Amino acid sequence: CGIVGYIGKEQAYPIILKGLKRLEYRGYDSAGIAIYDGNDLNICKTKGKVADLQHKCESEIALKGTVGIGHTRWATHGEPNDVNSHPHCSNSGKLAIIHNGIIENYESLKTELQNRGYIFSSDTDTEVLVNLIEDIMINEKVKLGKAVQIALNQTIGAYAIAVFDRTKPNEIVVARLGSPLAIGVGDDEYYIASDASPFIEYTKKAIYLEDGEMAVVRLGKKIKVRKIKDDSLVDPYVQKLQL
Ligand code: GLU
Repeated sequence: CGIVGYIGKEQAYPIILKGLKRLEYRGYDSAGIAIYDGNDLNICKTKGKVADLQHKCESEIALKGTVGIGHTRWATHGEPNDVNSHPHCSNSGKLAIIHNGIIENYESLKTELQNRGYIFSSDTDTEVLVNLIEDIMINEKVKLGKAVQIALNQTIGAYAIAVFDRTKPNEIVVARLGSPLAIGVGDDEYYIASDASPFIEYTKKAIYLEDGEMAVVRLGKKIKVRKIKDDSLVDPYVQKLQL
């Protein structure tokens, strides 16, 4: 299982697709990509290999745009099929998430959300998390980064996540606990991945999130890393990658 993301000035689809291929060694049963084209968030996902994903994406719509996220899934909740593949969207369609790991208390969170009218189309724990984030954004009137933080403080489990809000397309929010997550720092562009292999050909600078940390990856801004638990700022260590 793996996650990849890109935000910058290049076309995101080829970078993310190649990145997913680099992460194939981690094992998976499904794969998916979401690319924002300036208007719509176009999602292509399927059970099977990254090659199957590529075939599906390229025979459907052209995934054009300079920001996007991609995922290889190792199913833990819900069988491997197209619907359970990531990315998953929130009910309004505003948010999209990719997630490696397990949200252990997803059932109680799901029941609460269902009682408030949320509808779920997949059997995944991940779809619960993205709707929880949306619910917090609406109820507490907070931005994506804050809502992700509040939501994660209500979860038990393990995760590496990347969340995208189509109304704020210049940023991707990432967090990790128990699953790896690296941020590649380029020139006016950022890469996100489970390890550096998807982006080492583009940049030699990487920030590895520690367990319990999250970051808002925003174009034109330095990366801000915080502790999920207490909101304290962490000075990110930018590592120089060797070839
Ligand atoms: N628990 C999530 C699911 O079953 C994520 C699995 C993964 O780590 O790929 O969809």
